[in-house]
Amino acid sequence: MANEYLRYPLDPYKFCAAEREAVFDLSLQDMKRAQEMLVDAEGSIHFELRFSYGPQRLLQVEGRLKGDVTLECQRCLGPVQESLDSEFMWGLVTTEEAASNLPRTHEPVFIENEALDLLPAIEDELILALPLVAYHPPEACSMPEQITGQAPEETQAPVEKHNPFSALADLKKSLKSGQ
Ligand SMILES: [Zn+2]
Repeated sequence: MANEYLRYPLDPYKFCAAEREAVFDLSLQDMKRAQEMLVDAEGSIHFELRFSYGPQRLLQVEGRLKGDVTLECQRCLGPVQESLDSEFMWGLVTTEEAASNLPRTHEPVFIENEALDLLPAIEDELILALPLVAYHPPEACSMPEQITGQAPEETQAPVEKHNPFSALADLKKSLKSGQ
């Protein structure tokens, strides 16, 4: 991976103190978990991250991601392009307690050994930014007519969305109980 921010865990204290900005494009090929939810891994996602100290010396990262991804149309199962543009705000924390004390505006992202492993965190954001279900617009879909006349949204069972934060919490719990 050529990206300087992703090759090594970065020092979030230095980045926040210096109010560093990390702006880069990352190929979908480099995000294997997100790739599993996509029809193909063509293209890349643009990330903008702004590190700073927030209230009470909170390590915070304001972020934005933009890019096009290809999902499966839930009506005709053909590929459908979606443009993503999503903003997020992280609070970097070292403990579950700190995570639960974050302001509501901040999502917890855990740092360990004073290092932030950026790739899993931005990949989580990409997964959160994906729509739960995707459809072609009716005029572009190869299966536009519904026999029942019902909107497909009402007949489809809702897709349970993978939540990377709860997965992380489970992992933390299992690590603790294993000690
Ligand atoms: Zn379709």
